[in-house]
Amino acid sequence: MGLSRVHFPISALGPGRRIGIWFQGCSIRCPDCMSRDTWVTARRKITVDALLESIAPWLSEADGVTISGGEPFEQPEALLALLQGLRVAGGLPVLTYSGFAYEFLRDRHHQTLSMLDVLISEPFESTMAVSAPLFGSANQRVTCLTERGTELWRRAEAEWSERGGKLDLIAESDGSIWLAGVPGPGDLDRLGHRLGGAGIKALTSAGRLGGTI
Ligand code: SF4
Repeated sequence: MGLSRVHFPISALGPGRRIGIWFQGCSIRCPDCMSRDTWVTARRKITVDALLESIAPWLSEADGVTISGGEPFEQPEALLALLQGLRVAGGLPVLTYSGFAYEFLRDRHHQTLSMLDVLISEPFESTMAVSAPLFGSANQRVTCLTERGTELWRRAEAEWSERGGKLDLIAESDGSIWLAGVPGPGDLDRLGHRLGGAGIKALTSAGRLGGTI
């Protein structure tokens, strides 16, 4: 499978401390996508078994798994195998993002949906302001597919109404930093200006942050 990155803990993409898995490759090409580095398909290849092995040490500490991308459903066999492996490994609640419409996924990926707890679907529309927790834009839809998915979403809504959105800023050992989460309108520019004030130039795969830095 094509993998962009994997990280634990992630706190900005669902309640609690979560394992974040980002698939590599997306052909949907939403205008203003902030994850353009995940569009190409051949960045890093890994077997699903190797991925499961790499996250195994985190499973006992994690509250859940969030799968994003890239577009996870463009690697349907790998996504299904990953979900099956996660279930065998303890069955943590899984929240998955997709840029496809819910009806498209329901008609073509029934078995995969049956293994998810929460699905956030639909393409990113940058002109539609965020209206719910964990959404990139207001047109997106949440589908709770299990009872614990409904509970997960209740927790996400409670956290969102209490403190709004959240971003994780992650520093790698090579000195690079990256963001996990769903930035609200203007968040990236504000972050870029703050980093610029500290003498740090920040770029996204879609362009420079913060305008003047
Ligand atoms: S589906 Fe996600 S990764 Fe793909 S273009 Fe849209 S926002 Fe970007």
